[in-house]
Amino acid sequence: MATTVQPSPTATVGGPTQSQAYGVVGSDAPIEPMTIERRALRPEDVAIRITHCGICHSDLHMARNDWGMSVYPMVPGHEIVGVVTGVGSAVTTFKVGDRAAVGCLVDSDLTCEHCKAGHEQFCPNWVMTYAGKDLQDGSITYGGYSDHIVVRQEFVCRVPESLDISRAAPLLCAGITTYSPLRKFGVGPNSKVGIAGLGGLGHMGVKLAAAMGAHVTMITTSPEKGQDARELGAHHVLISTDQAAMDAAAEHFDFILNTIPVTHDVSPYLNLLKPNGVMVIVGAIDMLQGVHGGALAMRNRVIAGSLIGGLPETQEMLDFCAEHDVQPEVEHIGPAEINEAWDRMAKGDVRYRFVIDMAKIEGSA
Ligand code: NAP
Ligand code: ZN
Repeated sequence: MATTVQPSPTATVGGPTQSQAYGVVGSDAPIEPMTIERRALRPEDVAIRITHCGICHSDLHMARNDWGMSVYPMVPGHEIVGVVTGVGSAVTTFKVGDRAAVGCLVDSDLTCEHCKAGHEQFCPNWVMTYAGKDLQDGSITYGGYSDHIVVRQEFVCRVPESLDISRAAPLLCAGITTYSPLRKFGVGPNSKVGIAGLGGLGHMGVKLAAAMGAHVTMITTSPEKGQDARELGAHHVLISTDQAAMDAAAEHFDFILNTIPVTHDVSPYLNLLKPNGVMVIVGAIDMLQGVHGGALAMRNRVIAGSLIGGLPETQEMLDFCAEHDVQPEVEHIGPAEINEAWDRMAKGDVRYRFVIDMAKIEGSA
């Protein structure tokens, strides 16, 4: 075991390094600067200088322990892009200087049926990017609200050259979480798709569904976001609080992607599905209210769920976005503005993903 701790952010081989990070010490604590340690590179590890990290609503849920699985101190962040600064002796897929990206998971056993199928997110031994437990030494993982990270090569994706690195970070969670169910349920040119909730996930859902050729409707509680929704690629906007408009849209959609981040009555959304229509829940990791068996059985409707995506599909999504020029709409902030961004996100005031620019790290601590 190496004992020397090198100053941040030059993570390479040789020993653990200190990282300037931003995290919370408890479920009601604000984000504050903190120094964390990144491990010395193992043979299969890649060290990445983080240039940008997206702020996902899950970061706020996790910081507040909404799902009862949080550990503190916690450094959130699972939408990570940056540049490789060091590689372990067994790394074959990356070299220093490459653009690299890390999403919601940083390890798994790579041997179970799910890993073999490329669905590492279902591995019983998956390790979350933050608040997870390292499989080898049991240490708690820290996420991307930091200046660098060390991740084994199998969990690092390539960022295609045509993607703007300052905007690409949200693809690593919001992008894959919307791409995966759209693909799984065969969304394409003949699909009538509704995306519920215009935030980080929702705006990627609109862009991706439109790029797949679908006819897309933004279903939102915020009439003032209507024009933006159209600019993102939505063909229609449906205000979910407008009962007459909701009634008129009954049985209209083949597929609804529901990104609403809190428990809510899903019956108004179910009624929008055609016979055999599918609604995929990605937002509310919570009890679903208003699921009436009749609304399902009488129309052969399906409610499904979806969790991020595996590593092969995440790379496929990045390549799809490069090919179709699908890039997130982001608002850049410095680390000192994370608390304010979280407050705004909690109120639905996000246009449409906050991205922390790590170049602004100096002076913010
Ligand atoms: P976000 O940026 O905060 O956007 C959520 C949007 O939902 C809001 O902008 C708002 O849009 C709408 N909304 C908020 N409160 C609402 C309410 N009470 N009723 C109806 N609509 C409401 O959040 P996000 O980052 O997209 O994340 C969305 C959810 O997905 C979070 O719960 C997150 O934890 C979860 N998530 C799940 C996965 C997965 O793998 N399944 C992955 C990532 C995130 P409008 O103003 O348009 O109504
Ligand atoms: Zn996320």
